[in-house]
Parts: sequence; C-alpha cells; structure tokens
Amino acid sequence: SEWLLTVDQLQTYFPLRNSWFGRSNGYVKAVDGVSFRLRKGETLGLVGESGCGKSTTGRSILSLIKPTSGSVVFDGNEMTTMRSSELRKLRQRMQIVFQDPYASLNPKLTIYSALEEAISVRADARTKEERREQVMELLKLVGLNPSQADRYPHEFSGGQRQRIGIARALAVSPELIVADEPVSALDVSIQAQIVNLLQDLQESLGLTYLFISHDLGVVKHISNRIAVMYLGRIVEIGEKAQLFSNPLHPYTQALMSAVPSTSPLFKKERIMLKGDVPSPANPPSGCAFHTRCGKRMEICQSVRPVEREVHPGHYVSCHLYTT
Ligand code: SF4
Ligand code: MG
Repeated sequence: SEWLLTVDQLQTYFPLRNSWFGRSNGYVKAVDGVSFRLRKGETLGLVGESGCGKSTTGRSILSLIKPTSGSVVFDGNEMTTMRSSELRKLRQRMQIVFQDPYASLNPKLTIYSALEEAISVRADARTKEERREQVMELLKLVGLNPSQADRYPHEFSGGQRQRIGIARALAVSPELIVADEPVSALDVSIQAQIVNLLQDLQESLGLTYLFISHDLGVVKHISNRIAVMYLGRIVEIGEKAQLFSNPLHPYTQALMSAVPSTSPLFKKERIMLKGDVPSPANPPSGCAFHTRCGKRMEICQSVRPVEREVHPGHYVSCHLYTT
C-alpha cells in the first residue's frame, strides 16, 4: 500500500513517582491518543512546543519506549504486539537521528569504528573489505571526506557531527527515519545545509521522514504534510500548503504568526500565547488549549473537541469547526 506507517490511538503514559506535580490521576499522559499515517517517501513535520510529546511519539513509534496502548503498523506489521526477535529485525528498517549526535557517539571510537560497528549487522558487510568500502560510501553520501574517517567525534564541528549521526542512521539502509530536532542545536547558517542534505538523501534513497521540531520555520522547508501537537495530542494535520495558507486551530495560528514572513507585502499580526504549556500530569479539562486560547468559548472548558476533516485531508480538533 502507499502507507508505510499507520499510527492509531497511540498512548504513552508515564507513572508519576512524585507528588509535587500536583493533583493528578497518577500518570503523565505524554502521548494521549495520537493517530496519523505516513506515505512512502513523504515527510511529515511534527511540531509543537517542547514538552508536548513529540519526542515521546517518535520514540514510541520506534519501540524505544513501550507505548501504553494503541497501534503502530509498519509496512503491514503490527509492532506493539510483536515478539522481540521479530521486532529487532523490523526495527532495522527504521532509525532515529537525534538532536545531539555527540551524546550518542562514543568519544573513544573513531568515526570509522563507529560506522563499521553500525554497518556490521548488514548481510552484505561480512568481510572487513566490504565494511571498509561501505563506510567510505556512507561518509561520501553525507558529504564528509573519507580522509577524516580516523578522527574522533570531538574533532568535528556540530554540523559535521550531525552528518555522522545521519551516516550512522543510514548504515543499516533504513526506510523510515525519525529525525528528532536534528538541526535545533546547530547555528542557523548550518541548519539549512543539514536540512538540504536530508532532502537530497530522501530523494536518492527513497526515505520516509517523521521530522520533529519545535520550529515551524524549519519544518516548513522540508515537510509535505504537517501535524501540530499540543499536550499529547495532534490538534491539526494537513498538507503543508493548507496549514500555511489556512491554519484552522488557534494554536496553529499562533505558531504560524511567529514564523517570519518571506513576503514583505504580507504582514502578519503576531499572536502571543499566554503562559506556558500546562503540565501533562494535570491537563486542562475539555479542550486542553482552552487556558491559552484567545477564541475560547464556554463549551471549550468542559467538552473535548473531536477531530473533523474540514477540507479534504485537512483535520482539526476545535469547537470553532464542529457546527
Ligand atoms: Fe480554542 Fe475552544 Fe478551539 Fe480549544 S476548542 S482551540 S479553546 S476555540
Ligand atoms: Mg523533544
């Protein structure tokens, strides 16, 4: 089918160990009923403020965190009920790229050793010579000079280290990549290089991306579709053009208003969000956004809005669109 990944009603709750989170039912509902699909070869941008559950969603999909309930189907395989031996095999087809590759690189291993280790699970990398050839290929693929292979992680710049992180993810020839804030730690001037690299790799290797970022400006460039998350839920999802030309949810509208406009003719009014994201241990009743929403109505405090398809492929959960 055209769908590589189908996520249905995914929930990932963490038990509370301390009482200082305040009154709650005993769980942080980091992901609380997330559903979406990924087409083969597309990029879905997943945006929202920090703490809204984006990373936990990404990790739950990859089974790096065990979801509490819900379904994750990758290429026809239900992952949440899979035996661990099967899961390990399937997991090679999906990889994660982290915000800080330095934290996940062993400082005592040269880049060559790190990549050789990652590559060694492949059936076509049995001999030392095969592995050497493939490590060199990988380095070229991500725009690094093979002559740098014998250096250690600390000898590279932030941008180069992210290239190494991407190379390591690609070492097992994955189909799906979850990129979790892959450029957020980089200088703005370097961000575009890494985003462009990811786009080139997607085209040449046919990769599918879930691209997680708090920065809508970054997501804008790379995504085909965009999902906006707030307090563990997707509040709006649609084609990129739909979201940018006609954002429906007041939260999306606020995020959009903060993205610098590329057109001098089009002056946007900045919508300021009041206060911080409430604690997912004690989310507001009704629409979880009602404590910060400038368009709040009476119903919003008590009734949770259901998702509606307002335009083909453009879904929103907000009472402004339920009549
Ligand atoms: Fe605002 Fe109400 Fe819509 Fe929630 S449901 S975003 S509070 S208008
Ligand atoms: Mg995060």
